Amino acid sequence: MAAILEKLNLKKELQNHFGFDSFKGRQEEIIQSVLDGKDTLVIMPTGGGKSLCYQLPAMILEGTAIIISPLIALMKNQVDLVRSYCENDEVAHFMNSSLNKTQTKKVKADLVAGATKLLYVAPETLTKQENIDFFKELKISFVAVDEAHCISEWGHDFRPEYRRIRVMIEEIDNSIPIIALTATATPKVRLDISKNLQMEEPIIYVDSFNRDNLFYEIDAKGTREEGLTKVVKFAKQYEGKAGIVYCLNRKSTEEIAEMLRVNGINAAAYHAGMDSAVRTKTQDDFIMEEVDVICATIAFGMGIDKPDVRYVVHFDIPKSLENYYQETGRAGRDGLPSHLYALFSYKDIEKLEKLMRDKPVAEREIGSQHVMEVVGYAETAECRRKFLLHYFGENYDAKGCEKNCDNCKNPKEKIEGKDDILLTLKAIDSLDENFKINYIVNVLTGAKAQEILTFKHDKNQYYGKGSEHDKTYWNSIIRQAMLNNFIYKEIENYGILKLTDAGRAFMKKPKSIKLSINHEFNTESSGAIASQTGAVDNVLLKVLKDLRKKVAKKHSVPPFVVFQDPSLEDMATQYPITVAEFEKITGVSKGKAMRYASEFSDAIKKYVDENNIDRPDDFVVKSIVKKSVLKVYIITNIDKKIPINTLADNKNLSLAEMYHEIETIVSSGTKVNIDYYIDELLEDWQKEEIYDYFREAETDSLEDALAELGSDDFELEDIQLMRIKFMSEMAN
Ligand SMILES: [Zn+2]
Repeated sequence: MAAILEKLNLKKELQNHFGFDSFKGRQEEIIQSVLDGKDTLVIMPTGGGKSLCYQLPAMILEGTAIIISPLIALMKNQVDLVRSYCENDEVAHFMNSSLNKTQTKKVKADLVAGATKLLYVAPETLTKQENIDFFKELKISFVAVDEAHCISEWGHDFRPEYRRIRVMIEEIDNSIPIIALTATATPKVRLDISKNLQMEEPIIYVDSFNRDNLFYEIDAKGTREEGLTKVVKFAKQYEGKAGIVYCLNRKSTEEIAEMLRVNGINAAAYHAGMDSAVRTKTQDDFIMEEVDVICATIAFGMGIDKPDVRYVVHFDIPKSLENYYQETGRAGRDGLPSHLYALFSYKDIEKLEKLMRDKPVAEREIGSQHVMEVVGYAETAECRRKFLLHYFGENYDAKGCEKNCDNCKNPKEKIEGKDDILLTLKAIDSLDENFKINYIVNVLTGAKAQEILTFKHDKNQYYGKGSEHDKTYWNSIIRQAMLNNFIYKEIENYGILKLTDAGRAFMKKPKSIKLSINHEFNTESSGAIASQTGAVDNVLLKVLKDLRKKVAKKHSVPPFVVFQDPSLEDMATQYPITVAEFEKITGVSKGKAMRYASEFSDAIKKYVDENNIDRPDDFVVKSIVKKSVLKVYIITNIDKKIPINTLADNKNLSLAEMYHEIETIVSSGTKVNIDYYIDELLEDWQKEEIYDYFREAETDSLEDALAELGSDDFELEDIQLMRIKFMSEMAN
């Protein structure tokens, strides 16, 4: 048998079965190893051509190959893919809980007839004795364990049932060779896999995990709002390109997708809470380029292979570097430059730690170590590529990065950390190793926290000894002391800091230690990206007001129907020129921008050119997320003819505030019909008089209107209501 196989021309087989001319990377060696019946462990990054490593041998070898995969949802796709290369459907099948009796019968018949070369199964399928008995009767060529990292508790996707695979294989036939494959495995996970599967002297193939075309960047998230703004600004740089934004929860996916849409980016949310038809459509839209950006929970991206994803954003830092690597790995599969941008904050880390609190101790310990690695990655001032590849057991010379990560692009100086590490360790020791990070930081910075005063630790000899640095600095020092193994967090006690032997040794004999404290991830607002409210250019404002008059006349509407004053003021600050830029101006909807932008942009462009004005290249990000939720609420309830005073009550707003909200809706281009409400309040003649007044008015001022109409017959609020009706009908 072996002799026959040796003579095989693998390239020819590849051409015959799959129509490819050549192998990628080390595929050929791996396939040969499987054909030779050797246990084989393949670590290959996604996109490297992993599946072919078992598909081709399955086609060549006698019998059926069993492919174990945890992704039931993707099995059908995998089967379809194999079938698409063959004449008959019998060549590949899957067997899992989704099949009914008739379907299972058909699959079994094909297997018995020897027509099936690849059988995809879930690990659960192998736990059923009747299936095991059935497989015993078949000729099994080999077993492929896909996503093999699921075997290890140290992997990011541990599946207990994976640990029983070996036992089940033994029941079928002890001599079946195994090929285990994964796209992500640290050295520890690799060892776990080969041990657990009892692979016999496995041949291990590790492809380099380096992806030259990816640019790695970590940025401080700041407050949630600041983080959202950063995501929008980032996505704006790549407008029209495909991108994925990952967040931890469903709410964020929707919020970010909406925020991106509001800022003119074609985005959609994707999460497990959505209807499956909608999910499929969203995924298809992304592949077909109907949607540019997907804001997803981590569930998105498994099994989709879109080559031209130009960026991946992590709005929330992932809970392990495996997750990070896998998710970022969905960018740039076509080999072209792609940008990975992750936002980091200590608040998010605390959130991740809280999520683990209720897990069993062992799981918590593993989880918190993963989180520590993520923190280390974020804080490091070393080459990120080097850090990441080191994590996956690969030695990488940072010189090769060639400025393709933020740290290599903007290298920062390292500082001598000896004294501050020592101070930290002494403080922890003096507090009897009984406190968590925040407490230690508070002691070092001399904070007057209630807890500290209660314990009288403001009398501790190290209290305030580090006050020349801020909390971020000391947080960082403590994290680095942990990464250097001087201290550790005791998980059972919710993260109390304890000294290690190495830490005690360091205290006795401190030595130079270079630290990179450079990355400051302030949780509190840094104010760095507070909205830029530049000064209004009054000369331009005058030009725009004159233009508004002309345009109003042309369209036979009052000037304020064209644009209201706040919109003109914003234009005289931002100098918008394109329709997209106009849409970002206060109170300007898409419709309004389409209708009026051209005349105004000509004027602004002319003004900018004549006066050599530098337009702000960084556009103010529209952040109307919360407002727009209110907006939707108002519009839907007005449609239902709910009295406006009830809406105000429900939303805890004064009537004047509610009127103002409705005006904002109307002036940015949405029509609302509030007749049902006005009819309750005003007589017909009152309505007519106010309406007629606005038809002729030069300004939309309420006070002017009241002066003209007379306060004997009219209330300010009535006029305001009619103004809403007028604007809604005239402008939209
Ligand atoms: Zn680098």
